Amino acid sequence: MREYRFLDVHFTYDMLKPEMDEAYSALMTSGMYIGGTAVAEFEAEFAAYCGAAHCVGVGNGLDALILPMRAHGIGPGAEVIVPANTFIASWLAVAQTGATPVPVDADPDTMNIDLNLVEAALTDRTRAIMPVHLYGATVPCAGLRDLAEARGLLLIEDAAQAHGASDGNRMAGSLGHVAGFSFYPGKNLGAFGDGGAVVTDDADLAQAVRMLGNYGARVKYQHDVAGGNSRLDPLQAAFLSVKLRHLKDWTARRREIAAVYDDALAHVPGLRTPKLAPDTQSSWHLYVVRHPRRDALLAALAARGVQAALHYPQPNHHSGAFAQDYGKQSFPVTEEICATCLSLPIGPHLSVEDAAGIAAIVEHTVRNL
Ligand SMILES: *Cc1c(COP(=O)(O)O)cnc(C)c1O
Repeated sequence: MREYRFLDVHFTYDMLKPEMDEAYSALMTSGMYIGGTAVAEFEAEFAAYCGAAHCVGVGNGLDALILPMRAHGIGPGAEVIVPANTFIASWLAVAQTGATPVPVDADPDTMNIDLNLVEAALTDRTRAIMPVHLYGATVPCAGLRDLAEARGLLLIEDAAQAHGASDGNRMAGSLGHVAGFSFYPGKNLGAFGDGGAVVTDDADLAQAVRMLGNYGARVKYQHDVAGGNSRLDPLQAAFLSVKLRHLKDWTARRREIAAVYDDALAHVPGLRTPKLAPDTQSSWHLYVVRHPRRDALLAALAARGVQAALHYPQPNHHSGAFAQDYGKQSFPVTEEICATCLSLPIGPHLSVEDAAGIAAIVEHTVRNL
């Protein structure tokens, strides 16, 4: 039986081994093991890719959200609007600054933050709004940007799943005031270890983030603020530069696979396929369907060689980390998504023919569940 794997992080190394090994040798020979040209080059390439003026490499995607909020002065007493339906890191980033995450329920179609509920969640303590392009599906940010500007708030995109996503002709990462990206290996642009980046048009904010991630120093041994250590590893930057050249092709493949799934599965009774906001293009980090008998479907697919996964089975407000403060609140759309969601395999390790094979198995399995 053919096995369709959910994710294959090794695939990109196998595909690009000569280029990767060359990047490795060049970096090791250079002796620049912190900062240096590998980081500066990747930062310039990634900023250009996102259509933004500045990119600052940081240690991971979580820090890529924490540092811009800290640089903006967000801390204890502040509130930050977050989607209820997101990977827990979005909430944790806010909590790590000392501020309070204020969750807003999901739109039942896009599964992203319900834009109609944001304004009502603002208080005089709100300092930022954090849309998350969850599963790679772009949150249209024009209205949020107007709202943020009218109220003096920071609009920070959690773009950890959205490398290559866009709203019209604007790339994710250039839709708000600042954006955080992750290069965790399983992400669409993944390193061979941890990594992250902050992307912005705001030169002062970029500078402040760089200082916070480098012991608060702009000039060596001149520590202007109480910073920490969060820098993009040059070896990872060198690998990411190689991979970035292939990201357009990999995103195109993800879009082809999503189109195959849309065509084959949109009308299967009981199954709900993902819907994008108008004029947006997803990076298709994940292709998330919903089914009332999700657990049975997951098991039946596994038995037929299709490895699906769950993103995310537990709502953040029910997690051990947040239940004490949020457990009594109710986010019914998010709860429904968490109970019924199922992620089908998607990624450049799969061909369009593979996607057709998977879609046929999914359709047959749902109809016979
Ligand atoms: C992966 C992810 C993060 C955190 O990135 P790390 O590199 O793992 O720290 C933040 N937000 C979302 C939505 C993510 O998927």
